[in-house]
Amino acid sequence: RSVQLSLEHLTQGLCQAASVNEQMLKVVESFQLSESEKKVRSLLVELLQEVFTEFFPECCILPFGSSVNTFDIHSCDLDLLLDLENTKTFQARNKGSSEQAGEGQSEDARSEDSILSDIDLSTASPAEVLELVAAVLRKCVPGVHKVQVLGTARLPVVKFSHRELGLQGDITINNKLAVRNTRFLQLCSGLDARLRPLVYSIRYWAKQKQLAGNPFGGGPLLNNYALTLLVIFFLQNQDPPILLSVNQLKELACEEEECVIEGWDCTFPSQPIAVPPSKNTEDLCALLAGFFSFYAQFDFSGSVISLREGKSLPITGFLSKEAEEGEGTDEQTGDSRPKSVKLGPINVLDPFELCHNVAGNLNERTQKAFRRECEESAKYCRSLQYQRKSAKGKVWGLVRLFASHSAGAQGSGREAERELSICIPFKAARLPDTVCSQLHSAGGLFREPWFEKVCCAVVAVLKDVLKCSVAPSDGSEVRDRHEEVTCGAVKDTATSAHMDATAGDVTLTDCIGPASKNGQRVQETNNNFKPEICTSSPTKEYNPEDTAHTGVKRLSSTGNGSQESPASKKQRLDSGSKHPTAQWHCLLWHKVWAGRRKVRRDLLKSLQGDSMPEGGSVELETQVTERIAQEHPGGEKLLEFTLEAEVLGVTENTRTVLKLTPGEDHLGLFQDFFHFLESFLPKMTEKLLEKLG
Ligand code: ATP
Ligand code: MG
Repeated sequence: RSVQLSLEHLTQGLCQAASVNEQMLKVVESFQLSESEKKVRSLLVELLQEVFTEFFPECCILPFGSSVNTFDIHSCDLDLLLDLENTKTFQARNKGSSEQAGEGQSEDARSEDSILSDIDLSTASPAEVLELVAAVLRKCVPGVHKVQVLGTARLPVVKFSHRELGLQGDITINNKLAVRNTRFLQLCSGLDARLRPLVYSIRYWAKQKQLAGNPFGGGPLLNNYALTLLVIFFLQNQDPPILLSVNQLKELACEEEECVIEGWDCTFPSQPIAVPPSKNTEDLCALLAGFFSFYAQFDFSGSVISLREGKSLPITGFLSKEAEEGEGTDEQTGDSRPKSVKLGPINVLDPFELCHNVAGNLNERTQKAFRRECEESAKYCRSLQYQRKSAKGKVWGLVRLFASHSAGAQGSGREAERELSICIPFKAARLPDTVCSQLHSAGGLFREPWFEKVCCAVVAVLKDVLKCSVAPSDGSEVRDRHEEVTCGAVKDTATSAHMDATAGDVTLTDCIGPASKNGQRVQETNNNFKPEICTSSPTKEYNPEDTAHTGVKRLSSTGNGSQESPASKKQRLDSGSKHPTAQWHCLLWHKVWAGRRKVRRDLLKSLQGDSMPEGGSVELETQVTERIAQEHPGGEKLLEFTLEAEVLGVTENTRTVLKLTPGEDHLGLFQDFFHFLESFLPKMTEKLLEKLG
């Protein structure tokens, strides 16, 4: 079964290492597939080969991608090419012989008749073939489920999962270039042992900074292949070079190694021994720092990264070529993929398919974020904290480099916070009047009483359901401690008229009757809670164009609300309305998301069909957290974060937006926690409000 390794486990191991070099080797050790995991994958490949041979005689299943390119990690998918070249010949041969012999077909051909007679491989489209592949997977491979054909993707693919092995797989046809570039990556790893630790460290760094992989923020990100090519390019550009250009490698190949796929020259030596070793002796620690400085200063907008030539090429040449060639269809292969390079904010040419920009999916924002994170990391790498192990047991070296991305590193802090917003629509707010009047009498009347209801419910979910400590955010304290992270929020608060409120004193207990409490800490923090609710200047807050501040744009694109119409904006501005914001400082004590589903299932089972406990799912979830807390008592705070609630939009679009900003997060848990909250918090808040309303 694949194992998801958390930074928490990694941190312990890394802090104990003696040097950054050792830390980087530990990263590889921690992430790479174990021998038994590799064995399981190769057994599955064998099984698939056997099954597919039954239906597609003489076919060949070839693994490629991260399972075999030497950059494997525990959770990586299994990329497979189903090579049907020989099957096509087989089919043509049999067709010919059966036509000649009339009815009398060979044994061999008849046994395959069922599926092969449904399709003519020489004329069928990839999507049609993949439908058959999917049918075979569904019906004939034990343990396989979630089979899905993506027939219109750039490279059509069948996706599947294997239940028992906990694996995800992709099957493509016509993807020989990927098999070949996998061989190229294998060769590069064999040429210099520093490549693997660098790639593993940089891939993990990029994932932590939300630049690569598949984080909750979504959006166009660097894929692992592109990131690996960036590392190789960096190594080609060292002095003396650590890796040779692809053209130089080609010169070292012998005749038998010549290889052309879809018209692209993919020649390189099959064994590292054919290539003289690099004279460069730089260590891993320096190279990692060098990677960040290299790309922090790189002229992305003016150049194209060419691993083929081992250097960057001026973009101007490409632009004129683009204009001349346009897009076309390869007449020989019928391939209608664009034959000119799709240029973008980052241009990394595939080393073989030279018209393909492997970073063509990125936008301006990702490029900027990549550069900014490189700058930040390069700066950090110049500090002693990076280079030297802490004698006092503090985090050092890679650990701080891997801390999840900070708003400070993103330039405008508000821009980064956009990614971390949760939206609760107005209609969800339905607290009973008793609770409201309780709030009002203590805290003054707000213009939007429903906002308090939402705040109250959100806080109740955090405190009572998830057992977090929640306290009013004191601007100055927060500013001192996390200046670069929260200064935007603090500034707003500081310029606003503060109003006292006791919204936070209303807990689940007050709302839905006694809920079981777990431990003193929760009790204590319940007494301790008073959110700071303030009103702020409408002109600033309500400017829908000011997307960096309000996040309206992103929120509307996720379907949670739409931009305010000019008319309603005018109406609101005319009325001079102010709208409230509230801010809390929160501590997380338990990994409330880890294994939650299982705990919930077990809990429901132990209730023996009594279904929901009294209080419905809110109470159930409270108990789930309590169980998690009992199973992992901990005692240390895991994460600090600031929660800011504010109102956006008017009338039917009105909504409460919750912004979460990480504070101290040395275990790198913020992303995981946010990811969990993103779906849990609105759902629970709504449940609670419904319950009360
Ligand atoms: P992981 O699956 O861990 O993200 P991977 O290297 O397997 O890493 P995939 O996206 O699964 O990445 O792609 C599988 C393989 O397909 C890659 O290793 C590479 O050989 C090829 N590939 C992926 N993306 C591209 C691309 N943009 N251009 C060319 N080849 C690509
Ligand atoms: Mg893969």
